[in-house]
Amino acid sequence: MLQLAVHREITSSYLYPQQQRKLKAPVMETLNTFVQDCNAVKNKVFMQKLITNQLVPRHLVTVEGEDLRLQGIQCLIVHYLSVMMYVKGDRTLLQPLQHLMMNPQACANMFLPTMPQDDLEDIKEALLAARQANAGENPVFYRCPNGHPYVIGNCGRPATVGNCRDCGAAIGGEGYQLRPGNILDQGSVIITQI
Ligand SMILES: [Zn+2]
Repeated sequence: MLQLAVHREITSSYLYPQQQRKLKAPVMETLNTFVQDCNAVKNKVFMQKLITNQLVPRHLVTVEGEDLRLQGIQCLIVHYLSVMMYVKGDRTLLQPLQHLMMNPQACANMFLPTMPQDDLEDIKEALLAARQANAGENPVFYRCPNGHPYVIGNCGRPATVGNCRDCGAAIGGEGYQLRPGNILDQGSVIITQI
């Protein structure tokens, strides 16, 4: 609670030019000294950063004259950060949320429910279902050298060379021979967009 109050009343005062701030530099210094000596303040480093407007990461630093929308986002994140700092999230459902705030690098390989799902399997099903209406079509699924999916229609075997629309690598093949690095898609790779 104390952290939130300090953010609201002190960190937010950096929105104004120095001469317009109600709290002058000597007051800030006194406050900072008080916080460092006060036993009730547990996280002194964080509190000092709030008072001096030096929060990390840098986008939490209040910038003079920034718009209301950004202020709102910053308040929300600092609120979230403050709460997560004191919640014991070890081995509970809160742990991913703590990682998200405290250690975002750890989230690089996580699946978050809001991510766009890999809908390749649905596309495959739709193409194979459509084949029943056109017996001459035999779509076959492949992957480019970098793992991006593509389909070859007609007989399903590689007869022309093209470029992957995701990475530009050569795909397809000639004379029914796949270009090097291309593989038949066995359906085991799922690419959920991060
Ligand atoms: Zn590719």
